[in-house]
Amino acid sequence: MQRFQYYIDGQFLDGEARFPSVDPASGKEWADLPEAREGDVDRAVNAAEQALYNGAWSKMTATQRGKLIYRLADLVAANAQKLAELETRDTGKIIRETSAQIAYVADYYRYYAGIADKIEGSYLPIDKPDMDVWLRREPIGVVAMVVPWNSQLFLSAVKIGPALAAGCTMVVKASEDGPAPLLEFARLIHEAGFPAGVVNIITGFGASCGAALSRHPKVAHVAFTGGPETARHIVRNSAENLASTSLELGGKSPFIVFADADLESAANAQVAGIFAATGQSCVAGSRLIVERRVKEEFLTLLKGKAEAIVIGAPLDMATEVGPLATRRQQEHIAALVDKSVQSGARLVTGGHRPGGEGYYFPPTILDCDGVNSPSLVNEFFGPVLSVVSFETEAEALALANDTHYGLASGVFTQNLTRAHRLMKGIRAGIVWVNTYRAVSPIAPFGGFGLSGHGREGGMAAALDYTRTKTIWLRTSDDPIPDPFVMR
Ligand code: NAD
Repeated sequence: MQRFQYYIDGQFLDGEARFPSVDPASGKEWADLPEAREGDVDRAVNAAEQALYNGAWSKMTATQRGKLIYRLADLVAANAQKLAELETRDTGKIIRETSAQIAYVADYYRYYAGIADKIEGSYLPIDKPDMDVWLRREPIGVVAMVVPWNSQLFLSAVKIGPALAAGCTMVVKASEDGPAPLLEFARLIHEAGFPAGVVNIITGFGASCGAALSRHPKVAHVAFTGGPETARHIVRNSAENLASTSLELGGKSPFIVFADADLESAANAQVAGIFAATGQSCVAGSRLIVERRVKEEFLTLLKGKAEAIVIGAPLDMATEVGPLATRRQQEHIAALVDKSVQSGARLVTGGHRPGGEGYYFPPTILDCDGVNSPSLVNEFFGPVLSVVSFETEAEALALANDTHYGLASGVFTQNLTRAHRLMKGIRAGIVWVNTYRAVSPIAPFGGFGLSGHGREGGMAAALDYTRTKTIWLRTSDDPIPDPFVMR
């Protein structure tokens, strides 16, 4: 068993308790992990508070902070392969994807390193002749970050990067499932030379560690990625400390294909949108909404591509779909597919758990035309695509918006004016036109409705980790006039 520690106040510690991590490809325990409970959460938050107000970090210039983040970015790039292998081992996400994604994580840190000394305050043209008034932008405070098991290095980078640029200190809670890469990443924080307490990385269970962290009285902001039900707990917990929240939640994202689209290209994008990362992606394009007159042609194309996918060991570079991260996830997906088939959905391909070890589930397509299938409403967070068809553009738009979620969407058409109408009409935080699943540190990312609020990526994310302070300076040497009149 490989042994991991967590990182509090610049020290690597064993934790209040220990628990095992399971390799999803074999279903066998492979790592021994530290579990933080209330005591360690408290130590971590106190360390972050000390670092924020009293330590070396609080005295650094923004440029010095930026240089530290650059150093971290270089270390991530240099260690990308090792981190990728750990993430693949611990979560089952295929090595082809983790190696590319973690190399890109370094670019996220580079982007926010550059932003550190570009966060500016402002001078106000105040309506009083003897006053100078300006806004200082200060770090929002101690930030609690809670992430789910899929892509923990990426989902934490989009929080840690902008929070560091803004000058915050933080406690990052890795998911109890697959936390090894994030615990290993703590070594890079240490090596980069961040002062003790600036970034603390722990792991533990949601109901104990996550809850204790999100309601801690010294936490000013909770940045959360995960499911809507957990988000409700977080919001209720934040009533204790009145912390602000940013919530990146799930989705049931529509993928609309018009008959005039390049169908081959759309089918490849749909495969990327639903089967990449074994469908464990918040932006999964899990509802295909296809124009009726090309439905059969498009489904035949998709079925062929889905059945040609190489399913296998996640550490093998040839593998395209690996196991799901947990047995819980595998059972949830199997049960929801069964329920959907019972409701009348037709299996186009896949749908059955293979025998053997590991938490595998095959790429699955459900034709739900004319059926009130639960698969059209509930998030699988797995490789399952639900299909409906339409005749008119208005119908396509209504189907796309028929969800409480609103994270991402895709539109495939050659018709420019129609594409513009849909960009405007779709209620989601991201609209990809003739592409899908593209991300960049420069572009904000986030949802509407049950997909959450707040944005990650871009300058806006860094500003969200700041708060303004209004400074009033009287420039007159005359005595203050009538004290009973507000000026
Ligand atoms: P989850 O909500 O069960 O868990 C996420 C994190 O919250 C974990 O670290 C967990 O320990 C913690 N947690 C659980 N209960 C808690 C509580 N009461 N208080 C505080 N923390 C608690 O999510 P999951 O099943 O691990 O991940 C899948 C979900 O995440 C899906 O819904 C998916 O769509 C979503 N997701 C969203 C994005 C995005 O950026 N929008 C990205 C990836 C995943």
